[in-house]
Amino acid sequence: MYTRIYILRFPKDIVDQPIICQLVKQFDVEFNILKATILPQHEGVMILELRGHKDNIKKGLNYLKGLDVKAESVATSIHRDDEKCFQCGACTGICPTGALWLKRPEMAVIFDPEKCSGCGLCVTVCPVKAMEVSLDKISNLSETVFEIH
Ligand code: SF4
Ligand code: SF4
Repeated sequence: MYTRIYILRFPKDIVDQPIICQLVKQFDVEFNILKATILPQHEGVMILELRGHKDNIKKGLNYLKGLDVKAESVATSIHRDDEKCFQCGACTGICPTGALWLKRPEMAVIFDPEKCSGCGLCVTVCPVKAMEVSLDKISNLSETVFEIH
C-alpha cells in the first residue's frame, strides 16, 4: 500500500464539486481529509492523505490535474538538517515507509526523500529537531498536518 500526503488547490469554479469521491470510484484510491479550507479569494485548499496502488494514485492525480487542481506532495517539503542529526536512530523505528533507515554495518541513518510519505512522525520524535518542514512551501497549513499525526 502506497501512502502520500498532498496539498490540493482547487480553482474557485469547481470548489463545491464532489471531485475527491471520484478517486475512490474511478481509481480505487482511499483518502483521508486532514484539512480543508476556502481561502479569501475563494480558492479551495485541502490537505489529503491518499492510500492505494502507486499507479492508481498516479492516475488519480492526473485526473485532478485535468480538472486544473494543483497537487503538491508534502513529502517534498520534508528534509533533514545533517548538521543537527547525530545519528541516534530514533526516527528509523517510527518511520512507516522506510524513508529513514539504518545502514549496516556503518550504523548510519539514511534519509530517502523518495520514500517519504510526509506523515510527520519523524518531526515529532527527533530529539534535536533535525527533521524539518519547509514552511515556505506548504504555508501554515502544515502545522495542522503534524498536529493530527
Ligand atoms: S515524514 Fe518522516 S516518518 Fe514520515 S515517512 Fe517521511 S521520513 Fe518517514
Ligand atoms: S531522530 Fe533525529 S537525530 Fe536521531 S537519527 Fe533521526 S534525524 Fe537524526
